[in-house]
Amino acid sequence: MAIDPGCLNSLPGIKPQSLIPLANFTTWRVGGPAEWLASPSDQTELLALIRWANNQNMECRIIGAGSNLLIHDDGLPGLSLCMRKLQGSSLDPDSGKVEAWAGEPIPTLARRAAKAGLHGLEWAVGIPGTVGGAAVMNAGAQGGCTADWLESVQVIAMDGHEPFELSCSELDYAYRHSRLQEEGLVVISAKFQLEPGHDRTELSMITNQNLNHRTSTQPYQWPSCGSVFRNPEPLKAGRLIEELGLKGHRIGGAEISTIHANFIVNAGGATASEINQLINFVQQKVQKVHGVMLHPEVKRLGFKPSV
Ligand SMILES: Cc1cc2nc3c(=O)[nH]c(=O)nc-3n(C[C@H](O)[C@H](O)[C@H](O)COP(=O)(O)OP(=O)(O)OC[C@H]3O[C@@H](n4cnc5c(N)ncnc54)[C@H](O)[C@@H]3O)c2cc1C
Repeated sequence: MAIDPGCLNSLPGIKPQSLIPLANFTTWRVGGPAEWLASPSDQTELLALIRWANNQNMECRIIGAGSNLLIHDDGLPGLSLCMRKLQGSSLDPDSGKVEAWAGEPIPTLARRAAKAGLHGLEWAVGIPGTVGGAAVMNAGAQGGCTADWLESVQVIAMDGHEPFELSCSELDYAYRHSRLQEEGLVVISAKFQLEPGHDRTELSMITNQNLNHRTSTQPYQWPSCGSVFRNPEPLKAGRLIEELGLKGHRIGGAEISTIHANFIVNAGGATASEINQLINFVQQKVQKVHGVMLHPEVKRLGFKPSV
């Protein structure tokens, strides 16, 4: 990557840093360096950075908590924007209205909502992503999903024009899908309408039970990205993979979890290339034996387009 530090002169305020390893920004703990990386802490900084990337004719992309990302070992050109500093939320226990910045961890919001007696996000406690990532991915678990409770999002287009609001009904939500994935809109904040007046102790208990259930049935102690493949409904990707006896199958440091077959864990020193090879291997095996093409839920960045 050819770095030209002079191009920073036209950017007021926050400055991106060059050649920052992105492995620290993903839950798989793999990925090469970002040509440029910045973590804006407010909307003004975010807008300035997007406009700067546009002026430099640079690619610009968003990283939330990196819990659904596979980043190439060679790294990523252009500007990567990490949203984790854009945190904070406000909750109204009477009306159930909740507003959160995109970088707010979704488990933090779920716990705060439960403590305020607001029902709706108890399923979200075990999902280690941000509010923005949840809105983009329509994250969900245990029968609940983001689209069920989201009212609207505040977004910016990558052309850097002024922010605008999109209501939930405009986001084309479906299973792990939203319009935000296709149009590359940047989520700045999200509004939720939760159900007020619930028992706080009971909500916190359900939230804890949900987390306990997940940590006892999924390999939470290993670096992973959660479920690698979307479920080919009504079938379960994990079951199809397990039926092939692939639990524990490894390529280098990448391993199909022995606990949950739809998880690929970094069992030590894995590279993004090894994880990607294992994804392709599973796809081919499942296609050959079951005649089903599995589609990754995980977003692969820096790789050649594939299914
Ligand atoms: C242990 C574990 C368990 C998991 N369990 C679940 C589960 O039960 N259910 C589930 O749905 N997922 C699960 N996941 C996957 C992941 O946590 C979710 O997909 C989550 O919503 C991703 O959020 P993120 O902030 O990490 O997004 P990232 O992984 O950083 O990004 C995902 C996509 O969203 C985009 N994006 C992120 N933030 C923004 C933003 N503010 N504006 C625009 N685009 C943005 C990125 O560009 C990328 O395309 C799990 C992951 C792990 C590691």
